[in-house]
Parts: sequence; structure tokens; C-alpha cells
Amino acid sequence: MPTEVDVVVVGGGPSGSAAAHYLAARGHSVVVCERETFPREKTCGDGLTPRAVKVLLDMGLDEDLAGWERVVGLRVHAERRILEIPFPKLERWPDYGLVKPRKDLDEVVLDHAESFGAKVLFGTTVTEPVFDRGVVVGVKVKRDDGDEEIRSKFVIVGEGTGTKFTRTLGRDRDPAYPMGFAIRQYFDSPFEHSGWFDAWLGVKSGVDSLPGYGWVFPVGDGSVNVGVGLLSTFERWREVNLRRLQSNFVSVIPPDFEINSHTVLSRERAGRLFMGQSIWPPHGPGFILTGDAAGMINPCNGEGIAYAYETGRMAGRHIDEALRAGSSPSLESYTAEIERVYGPYYRLGRRFVKVIGHPRLMGFLVSNAMRSEALMSLTFTLLANLEDRRAHSGQQKIFKAMNKLAEWKP
Ligand SMILES: Cc1cc2nc3c(=O)[nH]c(=O)nc-3n(C[C@H](O)[C@H](O)[C@H](O)COP(=O)(O)OP(=O)(O)OC[C@H]3O[C@@H](n4cnc5c(N)ncnc54)[C@H](O)[C@@H]3O)c2cc1C
Repeated sequence: MPTEVDVVVVGGGPSGSAAAHYLAARGHSVVVCERETFPREKTCGDGLTPRAVKVLLDMGLDEDLAGWERVVGLRVHAERRILEIPFPKLERWPDYGLVKPRKDLDEVVLDHAESFGAKVLFGTTVTEPVFDRGVVVGVKVKRDDGDEEIRSKFVIVGEGTGTKFTRTLGRDRDPAYPMGFAIRQYFDSPFEHSGWFDAWLGVKSGVDSLPGYGWVFPVGDGSVNVGVGLLSTFERWREVNLRRLQSNFVSVIPPDFEINSHTVLSRERAGRLFMGQSIWPPHGPGFILTGDAAGMINPCNGEGIAYAYETGRMAGRHIDEALRAGSSPSLESYTAEIERVYGPYYRLGRRFVKVIGHPRLMGFLVSNAMRSEALMSLTFTLLANLEDRRAHSGQQKIFKAMNKLAEWKP
């Protein structure tokens, strides 16, 4: 006899756990199927911007956050200069970020969803959907103790860049959209409490300035997360070897960071970044895609955790409404909201990353932005998508004007 619940969530990462928390807190029966066993290693920079911090606070995780490593902004290194750009002080977003290894972060958030009543099945891989007259009504899962079918009114897909299950639903990443690639590893470093997201612009492969950046994020436990990311808008991205790019980057980090072969703590791990709303539409009969499974990473800065939390909660809200209204299988309203909330900004972002894909333009923009703290601060606010409609600063007026322009579709 198959199990029956209101909602099955595929994946217990940021988007899956945020969705599960939202629905369980509203009294719905939710099962999260997670193929791994937590805590598990996850390839990530571990950086949480104010957008991500905001959702964690909204979920009621204030007490946990209090002990995590805080950062006050971005310290940009390029053109032999260093600019310190604090996060803007806005009503809508906190003015700080956090660093938390994903191994711990994902466990805390999933445990939180469980404490609200979500049932978590670890070691459970979702293999295929169950359809009834074209509508998804559950999933088939594989576990060590055998296969099972879980029936549900709705399915939320937060499987990340795994893609296998997403493809069985007829959704795939649009190859014409930009994609990111990134690699990271941990080092011992005296910069464990630097208080900044350190970022190096104009990372080079040969003579070319690549669209991307290298980072050193302070973990606070004696270590730092060091990595480098690159965009597919660079014409010759296929020729770039990420491991070599990482070791080149490590070699240009100033010696006082003490990041070298003697302080290395882990081997490099790389992953893909699905960005810019590249999987569309993110819903279908009976199912919703969230986070990376919907291609929701911000193309401008490679940040995906905040968008995974936000879309997870959004999916939860639309399904909560559908369940209350009598389980209408159409979830178009979710896709409409994704377009309304992120569409204009992501359109701009896709154009921006196309421009910086040209090494010369990338070099030109970096050298100009590094000459002016005000310009770098505006760029930082735009790239981190920290819009606040209630604020009236010059920066926010420019942000609004750019979003308005992007809303205009010829
Ligand atoms: C090197 C690198 C650095 C990054 N740095 C940052 C950063 O500093 N800050 C930031 O905001 N973003 C960063 N990102 C992006 C960020 O990691 C992702 O956007 C984020 O993890 C997306 O969350 P998610 O819940 O959508 O997917 P995931 O975090 O990938 O979670 C998916 C979960 O689903 C499970 N799963 C997959 N398939 C199945 C299946 N069939 N059945 C059951 N379970 C399944 C997986 O085990 C996983 O736990 C980085 C990415 C990379 C590659």
C-alpha cells in the first residue's frame, strides 16, 4: 500500500527544507526525500548574504544565527587596490552576512523543518514521478530496504543541479542561458574572523580577465573557504581547467592570508551553477520546481542559497493556498510570481553577464569600478540584488530605474 501525504519534497537542501518548513508549520503532512544522510558535505562557498539571512530570520532561526560567523560587507581586491564596501543599511534587509559551512547549515534548517512536523527520509532517492492522467500524484523512491511509492497531492522538486528527476517532468535547463562553474576548498588561515567577504575581481586564465571572481570567506573555526567561479558567457570557458584556475588564484592571494599547500585542509570540489531562471516554466500539473532545480541562482554574483530559500517558501505558500482551496492541480500562480518578483532583475543580470563575458569589457569595468568607492558600492548593491522600494537613497533610485527599464519588453 503506498504512503499518502499532502506534499512530497524532493531534496533536503535549502529550497526543499524551506518549503517543508513552510508547509509543515501550516499543518500539512509533508515528506522530504533526501538521497544523502545528514550531515553531508556540500560544495559551496558557504556565504550567506543579507537576503539569505533575512529568510533564516523569517523562519525563526535567530538563536542559531547568533553564534555564526558574521561579515559586514565585501572587501574587493583588484588593480592593486582594496575597497571595503559595507552592506547598505536598509529596512528590508539585514546589514550583515554570515558564513556557515553547508554541512552544518543544511542540517540546522532541515532539523528545523522536522521540528515543525515534516517527516524526513534520509537515504531515499526519488527516481520517477507517478502520473495520473498527466498530473503528478506522487513519486517512486529507492531505499536500501527496497523501493516504495509515495502518493501526494503535490510534489516540490528541490533536487538542485541533479536534474535527473526534473528531466522526467519534461523540464531542463535552457542551454542558451548563462551557467556558472565554481570550485572551492578549505584552508587554515589567520583570516578565520576577517569580518569580510574577500573577493578578487579579474581572475585570469592566461592573459584573459574572466567573468567571475575568486573568494576567501571566513568560517570562524580556524579555517576559510577559498574558491573561484566562472561564467559560461566567456567564449572559451570550455578550455578553462577549474583546478588550475583555483591553484592560480591561490598563488595570487597575499601571503598574510597564509593560504598555501601547507595550510590546505580539504581537496577541491567543483559544481555547476544553474542561473537566471534557466528552467522554465518552473511548475507543471501537480509539481513545482524550486532553487537550483528551477535555475534560480542570481547570475550577477552566483548566489543561490537565498533564492533557494525564497522560492522554497514561495512554493510552500502557493501549495498551501491550493490545498486550502481544494487541491486545484494548476500552479501557474507560482510561475507568475517568480516572473513578477525576479523576471526584470534576472533579465538585466543575463545581459550584464553577457557583457562581462568579453575579457576586454570585464577589464574595463573592473578598472573603472575600482577607482570609485561610490561606484563600487552601487555595483555591489545591484549585484547582491538588495533593492528596497521604501528607501530613497540615490543608489536605490538607480536600482528602481534599472528594474523599471528591464520590465519594459519591446
Ligand atoms: C562551488 C560553489 C560555490 C557556491 N557558493 C555559494 C555561496 O557562497 N553562496 C550562495 O548563496 N550560493 C552558492 N552556491 C550556490 C548554492 O550552493 C546553490 O544555489 C544551493 O545549494 C541551491 O540549493 P537547492 O536547495 O536548490 O539545491 P541543493 O543545495 O543542491 O540541494 C539539493 C538536495 O537534493 C538532494 N537530491 C538530489 N537529487 C535527489 C533525488 N533524486 N532524490 C532525493 N534527493 C535528491 C541532494 O542530495 C541535496 O541535498 C555555490 C555553488 C557552488 C557549486
